[in-house]
Amino acid sequence: MSAKSVDVVVVGAGSAGAAAAAACARGGMSVLCVDRGPLHEAGARWVNGVPGWAFDTAGIARPAGEELYGAGDQHFHLVAGWGPTRLVMRGHGVLEVDMRLLVERLQRLAADCGARLEGQVTAVRMKGDRLETDRGEVRTRWAIDASGLGGATLLPCSPVRPSDLCAAAQYVHEVREHAAARSFFERHQVPLGHTLCFTGIAGGFSALNLRSDGDRVSLLAGSIPAEGHPSGSELLRRFISEQRWIGARIFGGARAVPLRRPYDRLAGGRVALLGDAACQVFAAHGSGVGAGLVAAHQLAASLLGGGGVEEYAAKWHRRWGGLFASYDLFRRFSQSLSSAQIARMMDGGLLDAELATDGLAQRHPRIDLRAFPRKLFALGRRPSLARRLGAVGVRMLAARALYARHPRAQKGLRSWSRLVAFALGDTPDPID
Ligand SMILES: Cc1cc2nc3c(=O)[nH]c(=O)nc-3n(C[C@H](O)[C@H](O)[C@H](O)COP(=O)(O)OP(=O)(O)OC[C@H]3O[C@@H](n4cnc5c(N)ncnc54)[C@H](O)[C@@H]3O)c2cc1C
Repeated sequence: MSAKSVDVVVVGAGSAGAAAAAACARGGMSVLCVDRGPLHEAGARWVNGVPGWAFDTAGIARPAGEELYGAGDQHFHLVAGWGPTRLVMRGHGVLEVDMRLLVERLQRLAADCGARLEGQVTAVRMKGDRLETDRGEVRTRWAIDASGLGGATLLPCSPVRPSDLCAAAQYVHEVREHAAARSFFERHQVPLGHTLCFTGIAGGFSALNLRSDGDRVSLLAGSIPAEGHPSGSELLRRFISEQRWIGARIFGGARAVPLRRPYDRLAGGRVALLGDAACQVFAAHGSGVGAGLVAAHQLAASLLGGGGVEEYAAKWHRRWGGLFASYDLFRRFSQSLSSAQIARMMDGGLLDAELATDGLAQRHPRIDLRAFPRKLFALGRRPSLARRLGAVGVRMLAARALYARHPRAQKGLRSWSRLVAFALGDTPDPID
C-alpha cells in the first residue's frame, strides 16, 4: 500500500465507502479507501431503486445520463400475488440507478478530492491505531468499515440470522420479441416504462418486478430462502423460462441483503460501521444504497467536526434509527402474510397506495385522517389481523420514541439496547 499513515481508512469502495471517502477527503482529511476486489468491480453491479431525496440529503448530485436508468416519474404497480388486486403508486420519486456508474462516479469524486483508492487490498483487522491488511498495515486515526454484508467486520457484531437475509437478484435483459413484450405488459395493464411488481409470490416478503423501455427489460426478485422459499435468482430463472420474449442477459448480479434493523452499536474505539456492514438497509424492500449515502454524509460531518465515530452513531440512530427499525417490524410482520391476505389488505383499504408509496419512498407512513374510518371498518371485519397489525403499529411508535432517545455516548448503550429489544420483540445486540 502506498500510504503509511492517514486520518481515515475506508474499507470497501462500494457506494457507501466511496461516498464516505469523498466526503472526508473533501473536508480536508487524508483518506485511503481500499477494496478487496478490483476498484472497477466494487459494490453493487446492478440497477437499484434509490429515492431522489437520499442524494439531496447526502449532498451528492442526482444521477443523470446513462447512470439514471429510470427517472422516478413512472407509476409503480404493486400487485398482490400474480394478480389481479393491485395498487398504483404515483409520485414516489424513486430513481432507478445503474450502480456500476454511480459507484464509478463516487470513486472518481473521492479521487478528485484527494483520496487514495486501492483495489485488491483486503482488510483483516484493527489493532490499536493500525489497520492490518493482506498488503501491509496502515496507521489511522479513524477506520470506516463499509465492507458490506460479511465483509471485514472490524467491530464484533452478531451475524445476521438467515431469517433476516433476503436473497436478491437483479438483471437487465434484451427484449427478444417486441410484440410479445408489449402484449405481456398490456395484459397486466401496465404501460411500457412503468414498473410491474408481483408481491407475496414466495412468502409475504417476496417480490418479482420488471420494467421495460421497449428494447431492454430490467428484472428484480427477492425472497427469504430460510423460510423455505426459492431465492430471488431461482424466481427469476423460472419466470424468464416462461417468457419467451425475454432475450439475453446484459448485466446484473445476485447477492444477500441484510434485513434486520441496523446494529445498535455503529461505532467503537476508532471504528465506525457504514452501509450494509451496519445493516443500514430499509428492510421493507431490502434497499441500502440511499441509507448508505446519507449515513456516509453524517459520518464525515462528525469526523470533520471533531465529534468522532460515537457522535455519528448517536446522531444517525436518533435521526434515522426509528425509521429503519419501524419498517423492519413491518417486514417481519409481512413475512407471515400470504398473497391472498395481501390482496385482502389492499381490497379493504388497510394497505392503500399512499401507505405503499411512503414505504417505497422510504419515509414514515403518513396517516390520512379521511381514510381512517375506512381502515377502522376494515380492521373491525378482520379481528385477528387487526390484533396483529395493532401490535405492529404500537411497536413502530415505540421504535420511533426509543431511537429518538438513543444514548449520546457509549455509556448507557447496553441498557438502551436491551430496552429496545424488549419493546420490539427481538434479541439485544452484544455490547461489550
Ligand atoms: C439484486 C439486488 C438488488 C438490490 N436492489 C436494491 C435497490 O433497488 N435499492 C437499494 O437501495 N438497494 C438495493 N440492494 C441493496 C444494495 O445493493 C446494497 O444495500 C448496497 O450495495 C450496499 O452498499 P455498501 O457500499 O454498503 O456495500 P457493498 O456494495 O457490499 O460494497 C462493499 C465493498 O466492500 C468490499 N469488501 C468486502 N470485504 C472487504 C475487506 N475485508 N477488505 C476490503 N474490501 C472489502 C467489497 O469487495 C465491496 O466492493 C439490492 C441488492 C441486491 C443484491
